[in-house]
Amino acid sequence: MADRLAGVALAPYTTLRMGGPARAFTQARTQDELIAIVAGADREGEPVLVLGGGSNLVISDDGFDGLVVRVATRGVEVASRDGRVLVTVQAGEDWDALVARCVAEGWSGVECLSGIPGLVGSTPIQNVGAYGQDVSQTVAAVRVYDRMTGEVGDLTAAECGFAYRHSAFKHDPGRHVVLAVTYALERSPLSGPVAYRELAVRLGVEIGERVPLAEAREAVLELRRSKGMVLDPGDPDTRSAGSFFTNPVLGPDEAAALASRAPGHPRWDMPDGMVKVPAAWLIENAGFPKGYEKGRARISTKHTLALTNPTGEAGADELLALAREVRDGVHEKFGVWLVNEPVFVGVSL
Ligand SMILES: Cc1cc2nc3c(=O)[nH]c(=O)nc-3n(C[C@H](O)[C@H](O)[C@H](O)COP(=O)(O)OP(=O)(O)OC[C@H]3O[C@@H](n4cnc5c(N)ncnc54)[C@H](O)[C@@H]3O)c2cc1C
Repeated sequence: MADRLAGVALAPYTTLRMGGPARAFTQARTQDELIAIVAGADREGEPVLVLGGGSNLVISDDGFDGLVVRVATRGVEVASRDGRVLVTVQAGEDWDALVARCVAEGWSGVECLSGIPGLVGSTPIQNVGAYGQDVSQTVAAVRVYDRMTGEVGDLTAAECGFAYRHSAFKHDPGRHVVLAVTYALERSPLSGPVAYRELAVRLGVEIGERVPLAEAREAVLELRRSKGMVLDPGDPDTRSAGSFFTNPVLGPDEAAALASRAPGHPRWDMPDGMVKVPAAWLIENAGFPKGYEKGRARISTKHTLALTNPTGEAGADELLALAREVRDGVHEKFGVWLVNEPVFVGVSL
């Protein structure tokens, strides 16, 4: 069994560089180890935080009063079924390395998710997505350890309850430990149909066209870099948890109320009659431009949705003070409440 260390500072394990000490910290290198560690802590009634790449976490400056288990499992298996490639990947594998491999092998379906930090096991948690793709489009099964029943099983994509930046895992947080994910990919040198306007423009194609996988990956990486959304130690704007707020999805009444306050605002009309509104537009038009600072926390100078810790010295309390100011300002101006995308540990908005 892996070592258990006391008082390990969590900040270095998060992309925001925030988080006090863990009461106990350990790593799991195999599925069996991961299950044994979590099951053991559950038997003892010890709180558990499963840690991936720490790129979607805001951890309290007081740290975590329990056991942090870092997922370090490895392995990729490839099979074929019904003309598709089934890629089964252990939770601890790096997500972007997997995407790079898929692109190199000619496996189509995840290329627009290039450059997203973090580990494979976290991708189903918030249905990771960008540039017109999300993992719900390719996840065939998720192998989980169910902490309630103590059993290991495979969830189908339907059982994962995927929605925009949401899933059954977020709905019932902490119940399942993701052990591995199987993605069903198309054997093709071409990307999926390009579904995101900014990407289509960058590639010089129409929406719905397909392009060579490597071109799609490169264009996505370029777009992401220009927004500080690819981790880069030399770019303080990337000291973030990605987008801090999700794009609000409004029902007809809320959408009408917003339209009367902000006629002609940008919106995406969804097939189910709901209206998605770009949170970045709301934030900027509520008076919070790129680079806006509060204490040592700052809105990214490249992307309004990312709240950053540019010097690495801000605490979670400072970041949350900025987040509250932005959330309240948007509500006051537009009557819309923004909701945080990252997972909060020991903190709240
Ligand atoms: C610069 C930047 C850009 C980003 N861009 C995007 C983007 O374009 N789209 C997007 O969707 N996200 C984006 N993100 C957010 C983040 O990268 C993703 O949510 C990613 O999937 C998180 O992975 P992680 O391994 O770092 O998870 P962590 O931050 O370590 O954990 C996130 C949550 O998942 C849980 N978890 C982790 N592993 C497991 C497991 N094996 N079993 C059960 N629970 C687990 C944790 O307990 C926690 O609740 C971005 C983040 C950054 C910093």
